[in-house]
Amino acid sequence: MTDEVDVVVIGLGVGGEEVAGKLAEAGLSVVGIESRLVGGECPYWGCVPSKMMIRAANALAEARRIDGLAGAAQVQPDWAPVARRIREEATDTWDDRVAVERFEGKGGRFIRGSGRLTGDGLVWVGDVELRARRGVVIATGTEPAIPPVPGLDGTPYWTNHEAIEADTLPDSLVVLGGGAIGLELAQVFARFGVRVTVVEALDRLLAAEEPEASALAEHALRADGIEVHTSAPAQRVDHSGTDGRSASSRAEAGFSVALPTGTATGDALLVATGRRARLDRLGLDTVGLDPAAKAIATDERMRAGDGLWAVGDVTGHGAFTHMAMYHAGIVVADILGRPWPPADYRALPRVTFTDPEIGAVGLTEAQARSAGINVRTGSTQVASTARGWIHRGEGFIKLVADTDRGVLVGATSAGPVGGEVLSALALAVHAEVPLDRLRHMIYAYPTFHRGIEDALRDLALT
Ligand SMILES: Cc1cc2nc3c(=O)[nH]c(=O)nc-3n(C[C@H](O)[C@H](O)[C@H](O)COP(=O)(O)OP(=O)(O)OC[C@H]3O[C@@H](n4cnc5c(N)ncnc54)[C@H](O)[C@@H]3O)c2cc1C
Repeated sequence: MTDEVDVVVIGLGVGGEEVAGKLAEAGLSVVGIESRLVGGECPYWGCVPSKMMIRAANALAEARRIDGLAGAAQVQPDWAPVARRIREEATDTWDDRVAVERFEGKGGRFIRGSGRLTGDGLVWVGDVELRARRGVVIATGTEPAIPPVPGLDGTPYWTNHEAIEADTLPDSLVVLGGGAIGLELAQVFARFGVRVTVVEALDRLLAAEEPEASALAEHALRADGIEVHTSAPAQRVDHSGTDGRSASSRAEAGFSVALPTGTATGDALLVATGRRARLDRLGLDTVGLDPAAKAIATDERMRAGDGLWAVGDVTGHGAFTHMAMYHAGIVVADILGRPWPPADYRALPRVTFTDPEIGAVGLTEAQARSAGINVRTGSTQVASTARGWIHRGEGFIKLVADTDRGVLVGATSAGPVGGEVLSALALAVHAEVPLDRLRHMIYAYPTFHRGIEDALRDLALT
């Protein structure tokens, strides 16, 4: 028997939960399908618990700064309150009952299982067939991409799931991957006393960002005692048979990772080498889409076909919660026939929550140049602003301008609150505020964001 409904949403992570909830609230009959936990990666294994870890690790780092600034402090890290907070406050011990009830309270019908398309508007889940009158929304996210390093398969390596769920910490950890997730977790564990080694195949950390951001990140990690290897593709992984989690198994390092110039060892190995969408399990071929593609291609209304939409990580526009939420707004409006601006990715903000935080928006200098833009850049160091000097802060602001149009097309703001300072720059890129207007704005003294004024001055000089 086939159940007829208005909309079926496959995957109730950040994007899917928002779409399904909003459409149900608007009075449509909506079925939401989720194979794991309603809410998805962000609240259970991503943004929220990782930022709780970072908050705790930064408190330790701040306490260590008391010496020479405000007296003396003895810092004794303890992972137990962090693990408890993640379990009790963030994830409800990885239980989504509240989220399921919230969705059902909005009028949605929830089915736990793996959804698969079987034709236009048709979805199978378990032994139920659903026919969606208005359409199907794919919001299935991504999972960790595991590189084909010889020896890795079959070892008890960690992904972000095990790292977030850790009740106790290993003595030492190798992190494969120098992107945002790897660096954030590496710094957290190092600040809690774990001996951490970061291994990155490319020639710099945070390779998608400005080279200045990469240099700052590497400097900050080294200052926390982290060993960093760049241009170091892992050639082989060996595992001694211990799992690195129990005290008895820590007697000898569990993992050894062969690099071009040496070996990195650790009780545990965290694989953080990017994310990939699993399109092969979604029945995409039944609606004329390529299951071997890297992402689901969408138009500016997030349409992937007739009566088919996709949102979030699975679209390949950037694996961020704010991207999934942004997409969700577009899809809800499109399905309800409400006016809404088309998708526009010019001012995509992203923040690596290391200390210092590295925020960026829009194009990097290299991206702007290869797009044929007539580029001019301006920059300043955080330490050269009054606030940065007072805080002994490290970081920089870099602006990337399109000189023909007289607007910013990108910016990086790295520093003690780089992600917050970014908001002004994101607004400038998004609204295409003329450089002249930015120059003649009043910037509060002494704030970190006053660095924007200095960088604008530098931009005028270069
Ligand atoms: C450690 C870490 C830290 C992060 N920190 C940040 C951050 O600080 N800021 C930020 O913006 N982003 C962050 N992210 C990224 C963010 O978590 C994702 O971009 C976001 O969760 C994407 O939402 P989504 O709805 O596209 O997918 P997801 O949240 O991944 O949800 C997809 C859901 O679909 C389900 N699913 C998959 N296939 C099926 C199927 N066939 N049937 C039914 N259900 C299915 C999955 O179980 C999952 O629950 C972080 C990610 C990680 C891993």
